[in-house]
Amino acid sequence: MIYLDGQYLPEDQAKVSVFDHGLLYGDGVFEGIRSYDGLVFCMDEHLDRLYNSADFIELKIPISKSEFSDVIVEVLKRNSLISGYIRPVVTRGVGDLGLNPTACPKATIFVIADTLTLYPKKCYENGLEVAIIDTVRNHHKAISPRIKSLNYLNNILGRLEVNRLGVGEGIMLNSDGNIGEATADNLFLVKDRCVFTPEIDHGALPGITRGSVMELAKKDGLTVVEKALKPEDLYSADECFLTGTGAEVIPVRVADGKPIGTGKPGKITLRLIELFKELTTQRGRRYTL
Ligand code: PMP
Repeated sequence: MIYLDGQYLPEDQAKVSVFDHGLLYGDGVFEGIRSYDGLVFCMDEHLDRLYNSADFIELKIPISKSEFSDVIVEVLKRNSLISGYIRPVVTRGVGDLGLNPTACPKATIFVIADTLTLYPKKCYENGLEVAIIDTVRNHHKAISPRIKSLNYLNNILGRLEVNRLGVGEGIMLNSDGNIGEATADNLFLVKDRCVFTPEIDHGALPGITRGSVMELAKKDGLTVVEKALKPEDLYSADECFLTGTGAEVIPVRVADGKPIGTGKPGKITLRLIELFKELTTQRGRRYTL
């Protein structure tokens, strides 16, 4: 069952117009949220980011955050999902063939919930192989990485490269040659017990998992620094891991064919995986089926 503009509909009846600007222009915003055993993880943080993304593109979401939260829980319940992946989407709505958003009087909202396929278990145990790809991350002044928009072609072009290379993920550099993020995850490096991650303006989505991991690392006594990172920093790191709602915290063992540290998941990465797992039982909105 899918929520679409106030109704809960079976998949084959949940249709949006071909004149919807979300489809015609990628004009809209979305979220990817997980629920773990009856807990919608970081519900408030995800809704805050959704509404912030909408604000950035001057898109008015016609329901309140608390109504949105209720819809998400209702979709999970109607799909009997005690654990799952939720995809809330808000588009500019139906307009004409011009790109001017003023032609779209009302945003379209839909929410899909499904199960999730993670990286294979052995990637968590052994670590992922990544490569720095040629597709340059959107300039933060062209499209702010703070907007989680429906316009994902930059990342999709990156993903096509990843597929051609046959690696697990691709690392995108910005136009200054600094690391931005992976095509669908944030990146972290560990060096001399300090944890580093690129600044948002270097082309990183303010990931909810990124935020949680930074907080967990600090609480655990580690120094966490957001700064410019070059490919050399990646190659010489003691540890590297990626974060994302789907991936959670996943170790990286090889970058561009070079082993990172020992070439196995590092101690700090493994500790953060454990702390993150704990947090997924604690933070968010609880529900029962
Ligand atoms: N970067 C990009 C480009 C993403 O699409 C995502 C979400 N998959 C992330 C980072 C990770 O963000 P989050 O932790 O909020 O899922």
